[in-house]
Amino acid sequence: MKRIVIASNNEGKIKEIKEILGDKGFEILSMKDAGFSDEILEDKDSFEGNALKKAQSVMEVVKEITLADDSGLEVDILDGQPGVHSARFAGNDATDQRNNEKLLRLMEDTPDHNRGAQFRCVIALVIPDGRNFFAEGICRGKISKMPFGNNGFGYDPIFIPQGFNKTFAELQEHQKNEISHRAIAIKKIKDIMVKEGLFD
Ligand code: IMP
Repeated sequence: MKRIVIASNNEGKIKEIKEILGDKGFEILSMKDAGFSDEILEDKDSFEGNALKKAQSVMEVVKEITLADDSGLEVDILDGQPGVHSARFAGNDATDQRNNEKLLRLMEDTPDHNRGAQFRCVIALVIPDGRNFFAEGICRGKISKMPFGNNGFGYDPIFIPQGFNKTFAELQEHQKNEISHRAIAIKKIKDIMVKEGLFD
């Protein structure tokens, strides 16, 4: 079985990555399951930088093919914020709910036509032989006026993907996993894995 370690402690992300890659013949391990328990400081100013740092830190310990996702929400009218700071938007003790509340408050007076936003995901794949690969996925949409739905994680209750009138948190898991930024990036990285013959 092809094994890939995911450099993340975010249960929401791991679940989605497992669902997107799991049915394609890969065994997906969280970094905890692979024996890595340290905290990794996400101190880079780009998704690429943070994804590479996470994947490399874990790969150096577990010595297996490791994948890291760094992702966030970019709001047009906020010049791309919260961006790389998405997880800690409401401060060091931020929760998903506080992050959502802060964003909705900031956009209280923003009319519908200016509520455009996108999720961006960058995947870094690090191979023990020293090679690194990257893939990016973007999902456009808009920020709702208030939270709706209980599925997913993070900003899902306030993000309405383009072409839908429901938030990510109201969609079925499989619907989000067909169109999300993470799904797009993972499909690209899977194509790279096949092209490079990483599991031959
Ligand atoms: P990081 O990639 O671990 O630095 O954090 C990503 C943060 O971006 C998460 O904690 C969420 O707040 C947000 N985020 C990334 N992807 C998603 C998603 O698919 N749904 C909702 N929020 C997301």
